[in-house]
Amino acid sequence: MNLTILGTGNAAVTKIYNTCFVLQEGKDCFLVDGGGGNTILSRLEEAGVSLNDIRTIFVTHKHMDHLFGILWVMRMICQKMTKGAITHDVTLYAHDELITLLRDLTKTLLPGKHARFLDEKLHLIEVKDGEKKEILGRETTFFDIHSTKAKQFGFTMQLGNGEKLTCCGDEPYNEADEAYVKDSTWLLHEAFCLYSQADKYQPYEKHHSTVKDACELAERLHVKNLLLYHTEDDTITQRKELYGREGSAVYQGNLFIPDDMETFEL
Ligand SMILES: [Zn+2]
Repeated sequence: MNLTILGTGNAAVTKIYNTCFVLQEGKDCFLVDGGGGNTILSRLEEAGVSLNDIRTIFVTHKHMDHLFGILWVMRMICQKMTKGAITHDVTLYAHDELITLLRDLTKTLLPGKHARFLDEKLHLIEVKDGEKKEILGRETTFFDIHSTKAKQFGFTMQLGNGEKLTCCGDEPYNEADEAYVKDSTWLLHEAFCLYSQADKYQPYEKHHSTVKDACELAERLHVKNLLLYHTEDDTITQRKELYGREGSAVYQGNLFIPDDMETFEL
């Protein structure tokens, strides 16, 4: 299975795209969040992911930098369904508030000929905290990250051989989710900026963490591979080096600071 990070930025970035990614098993793709707009379409194209290959979508929360790209993906999938270019069913998972919001938005914004596929072939399915689904043939458990801002879910996916990939969304780890995060083979976690630049970026005011915070957490919870995203983009040309240096000082595992469009074999 391949993981392609379509975007690595926080909400306000201009040099890179907002955080979203796709998991790919052969031609079967699982899209997680959509970034803030139409750029998702070119990112998917660049990643070699056809809209026809996206069978499953998950949206973590309702913030614009995660949601609006999903509206574009839904629009284009419905358009293809109208033309008969997509004949299979597509499933979008999210928590209750988000499902209601997405249904309202798409029914309002999409033309009737596209919107008629909602709940008919494009299924909007609510998931609850702790609920399991099979995605890409793997058991996937969704969990509430206990956000203080907008209700947000992450997920953990069993990769086989006792390995698992866990996505904590775009806010710091909460102790309530220890069972999901601990011993993850891959952990996808946000890092708004360097700890050494916390005074400049004020990550804690925005309920975000720093590179050092995320790396200390990964060390404590025995995470094998830590991937950091949802960052600022001022330091983009030196981000790998600067973040890597700060993180490696406190974390013994494999630390990845991907650029947009980097792919990982899991
Ligand atoms: Zn965000």
